[in-house]
Amino acid sequence: MFSGLAEQLRVREQQGLRRIRQIVDSPQASHVTVGGRDYLAFSSNDYLGLANHPALIQAVCEGAQRYGVGAGASHLVNGHSAAHHQFEEAAAAFTGFPQALLFSTGYMANTGVVTALAGRDDAVFADKLNHASLNDAAMLSRAKFVRYPHLNLVVLEKRLAATQARRKLIISDAVFSMEGDIAPIPQLIALCERYDAMLLLDDAHGFGVLGRQGRGSLHLPPAPAVHSPRVVYMATLGKAAGVFGAFVAAQPDVIETLIQSARSYIYTTATPPSLSHALLTSLQLIGQDEWRRELLAQHIVQLKQGLQALPWKLLPSDTPIQPLLIGASVDAMRVSQVLRERGILVPAIRPPTVPQGTARLRISLSAAHQPQDIARLIDALHELATPS
Ligand SMILES: *Cc1c(COP(=O)(O)O)cnc(C)c1O
Repeated sequence: MFSGLAEQLRVREQQGLRRIRQIVDSPQASHVTVGGRDYLAFSSNDYLGLANHPALIQAVCEGAQRYGVGAGASHLVNGHSAAHHQFEEAAAAFTGFPQALLFSTGYMANTGVVTALAGRDDAVFADKLNHASLNDAAMLSRAKFVRYPHLNLVVLEKRLAATQARRKLIISDAVFSMEGDIAPIPQLIALCERYDAMLLLDDAHGFGVLGRQGRGSLHLPPAPAVHSPRVVYMATLGKAAGVFGAFVAAQPDVIETLIQSARSYIYTTATPPSLSHALLTSLQLIGQDEWRRELLAQHIVQLKQGLQALPWKLLPSDTPIQPLLIGASVDAMRVSQVLRERGILVPAIRPPTVPQGTARLRISLSAAHQPQDIARLIDALHELATPS
């Protein structure tokens, strides 16, 4: 019955596209143990180094003592704990929105928002390089799915002007996960005003990292863009925040609509309350530990300067996502493999995740790194680029 599967898997293997999971034995940190060996890792989204923070570990334990382990039910039945509710209020206040809603994951938040806000008679406008979860969300919504070239607002505006759709929803990563560049948020909001559209902004990689006190991409200068009622803000909590989950922040009518009709919110068990309890501490650390963002900024400068003379070029990015463009998939794989043999983990990202011919190393920096870690990566890449 499933005989076709083996053949498909064989082809995938032959094309060098088989994905494998490596088993990590240590906590997420700048150094991880994989298969008994210690590696310097540039492969996590733990941008602030909070995933293994003692205060968060303690807060999870405290939360479990107070609330138990499992939520035991969905939010609308009786799984909505005081810890969840407190976190939602804190997340709304921190990001500057009137209300917020906790989701289990960013993937579920995106599918919940897009399917609740757009349907058959509507249109969803999406940047070509958006995260897969936004694409899946758009397809699930059955709205007309209109994609525009990466950051190309001229094309986006033409498509907005041409549409007959009832409701218009623009969806975009705030920080693009494979490029590290930042969406032109004020201009996107201006287009929403002009064409009576809404903007779903996915800040998975900006929350905690960008803006004053890490309050996210909407707080970037020149002016905070947070006050537009047209913005639906989504941030994940398993990256810079170091824990798990996601939240959506928006106007009360939007949040109420999600509670009433976002299926990925309604038909699933609430996350363990202990995680929400820990996330309150995470929000505090994000807000107060300015040194983590300062250290990250120094790492970014050090890496850019250190790699200037390489034949491979970093894509223009001022975020902790620093992609090194290699070109061919086999070359990117080889560089990643040789680094690994030297005890350094940097993932190679290949098509179809990125466009053909743009295979790259995705270097992720973290406040958990030390300057000597960055120096070691720079040295290793120079040695690799100049074969002896
Ligand atoms: C990681 C990520 C998500 C998914 O978030 P999870 O909480 O891991 O499900 C969504 N959007 C973007 C841009 C991401 O990078």
